[in-house]
Amino acid sequence: MMAAAGAMPVPEVTRPCPVCGSGDESRVFAEARYDLAKLDSHAFASRKVPEYMHYRLVLCPTCDLVYASPVPSAEGLARAYDEAAFDSGEEAGCAARTYGRLLAGLVGGLADRGTAIDVGTGDGAFLGELAAAGFSTVIGVEPSAAPIAAAAERVRPWIRHGTFREEDFAAGEASLVTCFQTLEHLPDPAAFSRSAFRLLKPGGAVFFVGHDYRALPNRLMGRRSPIYDIEHLQLFSRRALGEMLRRTGFTSIDVRPITNRYPLHYWLKLAPLPMALKRRLCDAARATWLGRLQLPLPVGNLAAVGFKPADP
Ligand SMILES: [Zn+2]
Repeated sequence: MMAAAGAMPVPEVTRPCPVCGSGDESRVFAEARYDLAKLDSHAFASRKVPEYMHYRLVLCPTCDLVYASPVPSAEGLARAYDEAAFDSGEEAGCAARTYGRLLAGLVGGLADRGTAIDVGTGDGAFLGELAAAGFSTVIGVEPSAAPIAAAAERVRPWIRHGTFREEDFAAGEASLVTCFQTLEHLPDPAAFSRSAFRLLKPGGAVFFVGHDYRALPNRLMGRRSPIYDIEHLQLFSRRALGEMLRRTGFTSIDVRPITNRYPLHYWLKLAPLPMALKRRLCDAARATWLGRLQLPLPVGNLAAVGFKPADP
């Protein structure tokens, strides 16, 4: 599925820091770099070949977040995601298993295993992990139609197509809210964090995974790191992500680097190489057992957990 050319929304809304509200724009992290003509519907798909394009980025001196400003309107973003292509089924499965291993260490600390909500669920690969972990109700929310069409038969009925809206759920309903590699894409991540807090029952938790722009691999790759992406409206560090959870009211916050396990051809896809060469290497790797071998690498991702206090 391909969207029409020009699917990329134009940045038109300036904003303060979306985590702490600071309007201090004195530290420009990177000037805007994008070419409207080069973007197609794959620009708004997960785990795609990186294009090294991004909006203007500002470093917040208060909470350490790097955030885009100006950004497209919420309507422009919603339209772009609805039409985005999906080509990452195998990789989504690998990521889901990595997060599933982390989930195993978390569920014992939860109040119970009632409802689990996965926001930005993609093809719902993680929903199977949630069901296997014993949650009685598993719900995925995904704004793009293409990954839902690619979802496994078993989990597709659990996925709701659309942008996440707090009012679609009952307050205090959830035992767990998860959001993987999606916080960067949200127009207002702190508002989402507060929504998750209200949806949780006391003793419930959020489990987030995002990029760490301060992690060594991302610093080494510089602007060729795949974290610099037109879809990423903000980039977290350990401090910025912890700060967002703390300001929301979460306790027992734990933010730490994680190791992701992906096939070699996926690592090649992310590597800072010329696009044509990279496509050839990826295709070659995909066809061999070596290319499909799963390699665990610390790629500069963060896992964050925070609990809603049991006694408010
Ligand atoms: Zn800030």
